[in-house]
Amino acid sequence: MSDTGQQRVYLNGDYTPLHEAKISVLDRGFLFGDGIYEVIPVYQRHIFHLERHMTRLEKNLAAIRLSVPFNRQQLKEIIETLLTGKDQESIYLQITRGIAKRDHQFPTDTKPTLFVMSNPVKQQLKHGIACITLDDDRWQHCDIKTIALLPNVLLRQLAHDQHSDEAILIRDGYVTEGAASNVFIVADGQIITAPQGPFILPGVTRDVIIEIAQNAGLDIVQRMFREQQLIDASEIWITSSTKEIVPVISLNKQPVSQGKPGVIWNKINALFQSHKQHLMQ
Ligand code: PLP
Repeated sequence: MSDTGQQRVYLNGDYTPLHEAKISVLDRGFLFGDGIYEVIPVYQRHIFHLERHMTRLEKNLAAIRLSVPFNRQQLKEIIETLLTGKDQESIYLQITRGIAKRDHQFPTDTKPTLFVMSNPVKQQLKHGIACITLDDDRWQHCDIKTIALLPNVLLRQLAHDQHSDEAILIRDGYVTEGAASNVFIVADGQIITAPQGPFILPGVTRDVIIEIAQNAGLDIVQRMFREQQLIDASEIWITSSTKEIVPVISLNKQPVSQGKPGVIWNKINALFQSHKQHLMQ
């Protein structure tokens, strides 16, 4: 990032230049990956579905049994202070269990660490991306947005090593999600995505897409689907807060939807863009 020198971030009560923001080596986020995070897209200062992100954040805090001395309103004020007003930026917010002598069990009387920054978001990948399938060898709590992302990092790197943009993960023969995204397919005119459960992150973009599709009268279902259905799908999309909805045009080096974004993707993407515009008014 070229502008990191001027970038201001929030850390435990202070707004500081990024290069001055420092945490202790005893922070449990550093030592154990003991924390959770959120990524929230912002369009020209309009925070996209903040309440949904806050609800997920609170669920994640409860899931890791961490209580924090700040509320939604305080987090919102911090986020607003950091906004740059760019066309698209992305808020990264991380909370860890704080600084304590290294010991696995929860410390008592430790203040959580709160870190928030805004990053610019690059142009969307509307022409489509390449994916490969990989075995989903992560843990049983993929619904928690934990900062302990080593399995996801290794999976994404394997995709990158094979000149692909994302790994689509398969568990017991069924598609779960991407290394950092949710997955949708179009099969026989029906849009299918895996149901919520312990093996996928409940993506905010995913939920918004489901609602938009339902409101538009499209046939969309949340159902388990097999790797073979992914391979045979007429369209594949991935969704995430920073990437929105991206068409997959190649899977395991084979073209998907003739190697270009599909018709239903065009439709859903147009609906998503107008939903964004509506929220910005
Ligand atoms: N699944 C995983 C594993 C992710 O890391 C992400 C986002 O980073 C998503 C799904 C998509 O979630 P959201 O749409 O809330 O960004």
